[in-house]
Amino acid sequence: MINKTRAYLEAADEWQQTPQRILIVDDEPRIRSSLRLLLEADGRQILESATGGGALTILKSQDVELILLDVNLPDISGLEVMEWIASNHILTSVIMVSADSHIDTAIRATRSGAVDFVRKPQELDKIEHKVANILQRRSLERRHVLMTARLEQSERLHRFLVESSPDLIYTLDHEGRFIFVNSRVESLLGYSRDELIGNYYTLIVHEEDLEHAIYAFTERRSDDRATSNIEIRLKCKDNHYRHFESRYIVAMLSAMGIYDTPDNGEEEQTRRFMGTYGVARDVTERKLAEETISFQALHDHLTHLPNRRLFKDRLELAMAQTVRKGGGIGVMFIDLDRFKLVNDTYGHAEGDELLKSVAQRLLRCVRTSDTLARQGGDEFTILLPDLVHAEDATLIAKKILELFATPFIVAGQEFRATASIGISVFPRDGETAELLLKNADIAMYKVKSSGKNGYTFFTREMNSSYQERISLENELHQAIQNCEFELHYQPQVNLISNRIVGVEALIRWRHPLHGLLNPSSFIDMAEELGLINSITDWVLGEACRQLVRWRATGLNELRVAVNVSPQEFNNDDVVERIVSQLNRYNLPEEVLDIEITENLLMHDDSGVIDKLRRLRERGIRISIDDFGTRYSSLNYLRRFPVNTIKIDKSFIRDLDEHHSSTPIINAIIGIARGFGLHLLAEGVETNYQLRKLQELGCDEMQGFFFSKPLPADEVERLLRDSEKRPVSNHYTQQTLSYYADVTA
Ligand code: C2E
Ligand code: MG
Ligand code: MG
Repeated sequence: MINKTRAYLEAADEWQQTPQRILIVDDEPRIRSSLRLLLEADGRQILESATGGGALTILKSQDVELILLDVNLPDISGLEVMEWIASNHILTSVIMVSADSHIDTAIRATRSGAVDFVRKPQELDKIEHKVANILQRRSLERRHVLMTARLEQSERLHRFLVESSPDLIYTLDHEGRFIFVNSRVESLLGYSRDELIGNYYTLIVHEEDLEHAIYAFTERRSDDRATSNIEIRLKCKDNHYRHFESRYIVAMLSAMGIYDTPDNGEEEQTRRFMGTYGVARDVTERKLAEETISFQALHDHLTHLPNRRLFKDRLELAMAQTVRKGGGIGVMFIDLDRFKLVNDTYGHAEGDELLKSVAQRLLRCVRTSDTLARQGGDEFTILLPDLVHAEDATLIAKKILELFATPFIVAGQEFRATASIGISVFPRDGETAELLLKNADIAMYKVKSSGKNGYTFFTREMNSSYQERISLENELHQAIQNCEFELHYQPQVNLISNRIVGVEALIRWRHPLHGLLNPSSFIDMAEELGLINSITDWVLGEACRQLVRWRATGLNELRVAVNVSPQEFNNDDVVERIVSQLNRYNLPEEVLDIEITENLLMHDDSGVIDKLRRLRERGIRISIDDFGTRYSSLNYLRRFPVNTIKIDKSFIRDLDEHHSSTPIINAIIGIARGFGLHLLAEGVETNYQLRKLQELGCDEMQGFFFSKPLPADEVERLLRDSEKRPVSNHYTQQTLSYYADVTA
């Protein structure tokens, strides 16, 4: 159809360009030339033919506007030419010219399609006028055809544009019933056009947006403003109506009133509202993106809980409400105990999984009016608005601790997580959101420092110990710069050779105010603050320096053990840093024993195996410290290049007159034998323990029974005495009394 119109249009355009052709068909040359003379004019082209056949030839090749056709021709008659024209649908007008003045001839001519009949020669003078009339009519017809074709095409184009628009295009009558809607409605909302035409627009407006839509619709009726933009949700036909309600959020754009405007010029008074038309664009994708962005800005991406910012907003809102209507608010600060261990042991992916499960469990403890948020890391907060009695928070804290009693599953294994909970109450414990959070945090720290896995309310007295921790953190930075550390050394004794074979270097912090601090009060903090690298480097350097001195005095066989934090093994350069200290002091590799904890071996996130192997290849010894206390898995012993396992002191402690052996120690000794590993018992404090361990087959020991960790010069005395002692193959009573003397 479109093609046909286009062809028409093209033809019509061509017509307008070309001159109007007149074909004179007459066998008398005189008639032809006098007609030519009569009709020649600008914009006309005169063609001639003396025969009917000649006329057909011309008509086959050219468009001719008008034919002056003689009835009697030498070959075929003018009427036969007419028949040919009719049967070939040639668009031309014909005036019959004939010397025959019979009425029959005229009738036959008009029947066969001629527009006029002229007798020759008497009527030839009239012919000019007739030709002019016909040509003018034809030109009008042509223009009409042309315009119709153009209109048709333009309408088709507009319909095409409306139908293929990505937007909903609609018209409503004055009462808000659909008069028109484009077919886009089918793909966007699932309605067919027929289902909507005649129905009110409110049929497809989301219930919650109805009021808004009706307001906009009536505003347009009463107000002079012709256009307005509203955002609205439209309903899909689909039964899963809830699911779709937010999907089809549609903005009505440029909705505009159509008015009746009579010609009397009094436009304003007589305007009548006829309806509206509008374009509605589907902005679902954009809306979803906006929602996602604002969700992300206010929520934690891992647990999808509100984040710190949203929590603070809600807390401040609740505080403002409480000030007006009275009552109280509870703020709980929850921190997982030993979470770092999970991250170090299993890797961050498992740590994340645990956090998600914790979030799920915490959600079960709160009401819908409460807000559970993730502050970051393993810290969660709960906002309890409308707290009638401060102690009501106790119930929730107890519930949390109870729910945590059920183990979590981490990497397919059970993991018993506990939490420390601090609680602050508004208005008692602070007037700002920051202060309430800080005080809940302080209370949480109090729980941590007094054994974890519990809850407590904030009290004013807690402030001072919190301040202490903060200042300790600052002082630790200083301590590194001012070299306030020292190393103490604890002997490791081989009972078969009756010698001290090594010392474990244990760090101490000589604090300007608090005196000598043990590592338990600052190593964790150094790890948290990212200061552990500097400490490790210092310990390694100092231990090597000390060993060089001892070696220079003849203590050549001595080894030194250094504790290296698992965190260090996340660093790519840990191997180089350890080796470089040995090189710096020109020490053989086998004098150094690196103590690591079991949990380091449980995952290979940062190439731990490879790093340990590189250390072993150089001859550096590796010991597993505190063996048995973490996640013992025999598998890793097979894979890891380890020399020694150190039985943790908690198992040794259990060896007393009542428990002559523990199944765990037996098992550990069995493991060491099975894997061909060296064994060392740490925390040996009594003669009984010493004898029992020896009976069980453990010959290397460390513990207060032999010596406490001592400063270098003091331990040196023990080392010299040990050198002087006779080598014996068996542990003797004399040796025992010797150690007893030393430690007395
Ligand atoms: P560890 O490596 O297991 O060190 C043994 C700890 O047990 C030492 O505590 C030591 O004083 C104590 N100990 C030794 N014999 C006995 C005993 O017979 N009975 C009892 N009850 N305890 C005994 P210390 O020096 O307080 O060190 C604690 C922990 O701090 C160490 O445990 C180690 O994990 C860490 N640490 C020490 N120095 C460093 C260091 O330079 N770097 C790192 N990253 N950690 C260190
Ligand atoms: Mg150790
Ligand atoms: Mg240990």
